[in-house]
Formats: sequence, C-alpha cells, structure tokens
Amino acid sequence: MIAQHYKDMLGAKSVIRQISEWSTARGAEIGYENVFDYSLGNPSVPCPPQFTAACEDLLAHTDPVKLHGYTPTLTLPSARKAVAESLNRRFGMDYTADHIFMTTGAAGALAHAVRCVGVPGQNIVTFAPFFPEYKPYIEGAGLTLRVTPPRCADFQIDFEAFAQLVDENTAAVLINSPNNPSGTAYSEETLQQLADFLTATSTKYGHHIFLISDEPYREISFGGRVTPYPAKFYDDTLTCYSFSKSLSVPGERIGYVAAKPRCEDAAYIVPMCGQISRGTGHNCPSSLIQMAVERCLDMTSDLSVYETNMNLIYDELIALGFTVVKPDGTFYIFPKALEDDAKAFCQKALKYDLALVPGDSFGCPGYFRMAYCIETEKVRRSFAALEKFVAEEYG
Ligand code: PLP
Repeated sequence: MIAQHYKDMLGAKSVIRQISEWSTARGAEIGYENVFDYSLGNPSVPCPPQFTAACEDLLAHTDPVKLHGYTPTLTLPSARKAVAESLNRRFGMDYTADHIFMTTGAAGALAHAVRCVGVPGQNIVTFAPFFPEYKPYIEGAGLTLRVTPPRCADFQIDFEAFAQLVDENTAAVLINSPNNPSGTAYSEETLQQLADFLTATSTKYGHHIFLISDEPYREISFGGRVTPYPAKFYDDTLTCYSFSKSLSVPGERIGYVAAKPRCEDAAYIVPMCGQISRGTGHNCPSSLIQMAVERCLDMTSDLSVYETNMNLIYDELIALGFTVVKPDGTFYIFPKALEDDAKAFCQKALKYDLALVPGDSFGCPGYFRMAYCIETEKVRRSFAALEKFVAEEYG
C-alpha cells in the first residue's frame, strides 16, 4: 500500500508554483517578455566568475578519485573550517570546524536543525509572514508548526501573541531574517527581546528552547547595512545558511548548519547531524561544490540589481497609494492588497499579465508578494500594467 500522507499532499499544490506555471503558459501565448512574472524567488544574476573558475580549476587539477569521491560523514573538513573562520571574521563569533556541517542548501540545513532539537509531538513556533515550505519541513520531522500572527506595521515580532504559543512542548523558535516574503530584517532590539524571552521561558519550562535562524538572504541587505546576526544574541542558536541566493547557485544545493559553541550539547550537534543524514538519505552535498564554495566564502554575485528594483517598485507602489513596509533586504516586497481578499486581487492582476502571489499561503491574508529578481528593464515596463490594473479595478 502506498503512503496516503504523501498522496494527500498532492492536493495542496504550492500556490507560488501554480502562478509561476500560469506565467510560463501565458508566456508561450504572448511572449514571456510580456508577462510581468513576479512569482518565483529564483536568482536573476549569474554566480560570481570566481565560482565558475573554482569549479573549472577543481575539475582540471584535482585527482578525480578525490574530487568525485565521498567526503567524510560530517562533510568536508577544510570547507567546515573555512566557513567557521569566515563567520568569526564577519560576525565576531568563535566557531571551529567542529560546529559546522555542510548541507544541501537551507532546506537540508533546516531538515537537520529541526531533528537535532525536536522530537515528534513537540512544536516549533514561527512568525507570519513565513516561507510556506516550513510546514512540510517541520511536519516531515513529526513536529507541529505554530504560527505567530504578523505585526503588519513593520513585520517585527508581536511578542504578546508569540508568548501565547510557546509552551512546555516547544522545542524551538524558527526565524527568517531578512524575511521571505516581507524583506524585513529583525532589528537588534527585536533579537535581544527574543533572546531575553527565550532565556526566561527555557528556565520556566526546564529545557533549552532553541533558536533556529534561517538565513538564505543574509547577504542581500539594502542601504549598505549588515543584517544583525541572530546567533550573537542567544546561545542556543542553530544558524541555517544557503549559498543559493548569495552566490546564485540554487541548483547546486549547498549551505550549512552552524551550531553556536555555547549552545546546549554543542559538541554533539554536528556528530548528530551525521546520524540524521543517514536517516534522511542526505549523506553530504556534492564534494566538488563543497570545495568550490570553500574558495568563495567572502564573496557574492553582483546583488545590486535587487536593491535597484526594490527602490523602483517601492516608489511606484507608494505613488499608487499602496501600504507597504520598505524591505531591508531579499528580493521580495510584501504590500497590502487593495481589497481584503488578496487571492481575488491577484486573480484580477492576471488580466494585466501581472503575476503576483497572495499572502494567504505565507500566513498573512490581505497582502501579496512580488519577487523582483527580474531585469530592471522589465520592472520599469511592468509599471504601465500595474497603473492600468489599479485604475481600472480600484480607481
Ligand atoms: N528558507 C527560505 C526563507 C527560503 O526562501 C528558501 C528558498 O527560497 C529556503 C529556505 C530554501 O533554500 P534552499 O533552496 O537553499 O534550500
């Protein structure tokens, strides 16, 4: 008999994917250049040339038996050491290679982090708006996802609502800063308040409540700011990172878990990840790609187009009368729709060849997401469609 649980999941197809498929189909009719596809968070800039050069050099000059061989269960020691040193340099931390475990992107990192600190039957609390894949990531490990309602004025944390969701079965709190879909980065004040709350609540319930910090957008930060590093504020933190967006290599599946050296049982986290990998079939990212990112840790793609696009779209939305919090980073913006039903709003937008994603699946009805990882020229051209949409449907 097949597993009914996964069969049932087929009915709940991702809304983002559905809208993206609509864009592709519409593109086949009128030319994709005429579809203003703001649906998918796929990087639109190439990886840095150094990443390509690293791969070429490794392929040309490394013993193929080593290059294509298994890395150790706990992943490539030199890459782990280089990641630790890079984080220490950039954020004043004190990681060693023993605290780093290389993974297949942030998804792989989260699969390990959740299993390190939670057991089936426990819950993990996150904050709306949130990345919809958190549900399968967490439920797949047998835990329950609890969602704190959004604080829409600035997308920081509503601590009163959050406190009501944390109980003796809470294994961890999951944050994402800067956030998909809002683009908001948590301020130092928010992170300090969160740390103070988790310290007090861990004492109250007699176990360490972990902070899992999902940071695939850490490097896409606007206005020359550095996104505050959550692990600095709270000892029991597992940082989950991905190079998907910073190096524009989402298909290569590479990231890591970093366990803060002062977290509970810090010495066990990475060895435990090695055991978790056995059960999830993870068994290390590609050896070649681990070696290549080791050489590219302190660089990024040219990410400036995202800030250019954000500023253009933000100004246009404000001019059109939208309510919108200005993003601190990422390549997303999350305005309030012009009617309460964001699904209906996004459905109407399709008539104008504007592919927008309703906020419902991010736990934030009434809002919509625009992923502006597209060419600036297309962003500019989309404004005529946006103006027509607003004037005809809401004028
Ligand atoms: N977390 C968030 C908030 C994301 O937006 C994504 C991907 O878009 C992921 C995790 C998964 O990242 P990766 O593709 O590197 O596994």
